[in-house]
Amino acid sequence: VIRLGQPEHAVLTTCAYCGVGCGFKAEMKGSEVVRMVPWKDGAANEGHACIKGRFAWGYATHADRITTPMIRRRITDPWQVVGWDEAIAYAAGEFRRLQAAHGRDAVGGITSSRCTNEETYLVQKLVRAGFGNNNVDTCARVCHSPTGYGLKQTLGESAGTQTFRSVAQADVVVVMGANPTDGHPVFASRLKRRLREGAQLVVIDPRRIDLVKSPHVQAAEHLALRPGTNVAMVTALAHVVVTEGLVDEAYVAQRCDDKSFREWRAFVARPENAPEATEAVTGVPAAAVRAAARLYATGRSDGTAATLADFVARHGRRPNAAIYYGLGVTEHSQGSTTVMGIANLAMATGNVGREGVGVNPLRGQNNVQGSCDMGSFPHELPGYRHVSDATTRALFEEAWQVTLQPEPGLRIPNMFDAALAGRFKGLYCQGEDIVQSDPNTQHVAAALMAMECIVVQDLFLNETARYAHVFLPGSSFLEKDGTFTNAERRISRVRKVMPPKAGLADWEVTVKLANALGCPMDYASPRAVMDEIARLTPSFHGVSYDKLDRLGSLQWPCNEAAPEGTPTMHVDHFVRGKGRFIITQYIATDEKVTRRFPLILTTGRTLSQYNVGAQTRRTENLRWHAEDRLEIHPHDAEERGIRDGDWVGVASRAGETVLRATLTDRVQPGVVYTTFHFPESGANVITTDNSDWATNCPEYKVTAVQVMPVMQP
Ligand code: SF4
Repeated sequence: VIRLGQPEHAVLTTCAYCGVGCGFKAEMKGSEVVRMVPWKDGAANEGHACIKGRFAWGYATHADRITTPMIRRRITDPWQVVGWDEAIAYAAGEFRRLQAAHGRDAVGGITSSRCTNEETYLVQKLVRAGFGNNNVDTCARVCHSPTGYGLKQTLGESAGTQTFRSVAQADVVVVMGANPTDGHPVFASRLKRRLREGAQLVVIDPRRIDLVKSPHVQAAEHLALRPGTNVAMVTALAHVVVTEGLVDEAYVAQRCDDKSFREWRAFVARPENAPEATEAVTGVPAAAVRAAARLYATGRSDGTAATLADFVARHGRRPNAAIYYGLGVTEHSQGSTTVMGIANLAMATGNVGREGVGVNPLRGQNNVQGSCDMGSFPHELPGYRHVSDATTRALFEEAWQVTLQPEPGLRIPNMFDAALAGRFKGLYCQGEDIVQSDPNTQHVAAALMAMECIVVQDLFLNETARYAHVFLPGSSFLEKDGTFTNAERRISRVRKVMPPKAGLADWEVTVKLANALGCPMDYASPRAVMDEIARLTPSFHGVSYDKLDRLGSLQWPCNEAAPEGTPTMHVDHFVRGKGRFIITQYIATDEKVTRRFPLILTTGRTLSQYNVGAQTRRTENLRWHAEDRLEIHPHDAEERGIRDGDWVGVASRAGETVLRATLTDRVQPGVVYTTFHFPESGANVITTDNSDWATNCPEYKVTAVQVMPVMQP
């Protein structure tokens, strides 16, 4: 609901939707928000915003909000409203009972990228210090965990290399497996501005996203590859770079590990990695792949080593080429391999370490970067330091006065498997609807049914809460203080504009639960939590609320070496020292098309809605997008007797659902596409258990399906 009226005062805060992290002024009348005005000095958005951040904040005051704690002994019992102390004591008692009966590792926690840095830090601390294990994971598991792994392996840091502003210096931009116009609209505006100024664009995506051709913007190349073949594509691009003499030899010699480069060069140069050989795998004509690789490496689709040398002679540098990528890269069985392939390409062409270039993951949620930074993974303490590292453990053990476990804990899918095996019994789940957002819903539901105590902390009784025994009401971004870290490592303040509707902010609830577990936590405010984070995390040593208030935002690393933050990473050397090339062998996904399941389903988002829609479905944004539809090519539709708007059944090996069809040539024949914003569309009922080999990030983007007309449900 958009309320009109004259504001009396304004509070600066940060959007709670996507990884762009736009700054906003919440204009207030008393404790009511009158409107959200994009902050002109916001470094991530410079006065711009999209229809999510600007208009879709009404969920915070929606009637569906649950504002009282509730408990029930069995999930078939009715909820019983209780006070905070009783709910917290019940949850803590259950967790301790389950650990006494089934062992220390029988419980764990899941943090959310929708929560602040301070909140996710406290949840992982509660798990490590309170539960005494490392069974903590984050919803980044299901989106950008391959980014964390792949960039750490190659460049040495689990983060993007640039600022958003940097795209204004790019001569060539590659967008791979991302749809910025819908997913990251304010960044998309910056990108389009640069394209209108003359930068050239390569889109690598199975679907014809808006950037391929929209007013004043046209991609030089659209590589519409088959879903699941990203690794074959990046390796083919590298083949062209290596075999046509387009490697930045001086950069590689100075900046990169020689042995890994020589092995990688020999691998990508093999004939089977040539675009002509991979054409049968990717479905993309070799000529287009060659043109895209030449464009990326030389600035011209017909570029050669000679034209590149000429450019360097005239400009004193190579053309700036930047890669931006999204979940269409990470959510695959080889998601981590593709991330490493992208980093290989950027290093080989000298495109890391200055403005206008880089490897840039477009993070889906507002605080994906932050939740990973804060140690929400089962193998890493805050600052991406492995739990097996005794020096790091000793630092936290002294600060927290506990003994920490040196073995990594359970990832989210491992928690589900352990629950079904009877070894995992209790879960604290903050701000994450795992039933709707994780793949193979039936498997998730069965795992939750096998647990004895599930504590859900959320704004709404979400799908996961159907299986919960304790419900702890959460607070919206308008009700809390803290920080979010966006896709460019920018830490921005979130400021409370109204009191928490349930009386406690999320961080206070975690502190109470930790204390009830006998794990003392004593913080006066989120500021004190950030002070502890800064003390214990080298890349945050220079971060404080005072500095954030003074400078507006800070990009980590922010420490003694970079007191005002680091806009561009890896400038003189890579964080890991020498950049490391990794062999990217293409291995086809297990998810094969067959006569029974002849089409490949892939998924994405739309502009007005956000992820599983818990927030945006409760706002006026419904007027723009009120249902998920299945996009199908007219040829595939005709074969099946499907007309535009018909109801269709979509069946996979995992399950089936019903959607309405939209006939469009945005998708290729053989590929269908849907968004996943509405629980009733059940996109994750049909996604499979396949996941990234390195991180278990689910393979949401490749599901073999059959589509047939059905009666209206
Ligand atoms: Fe900015 Fe993203 Fe929020 Fe839109 S959803 S206002 S682009 S942070």
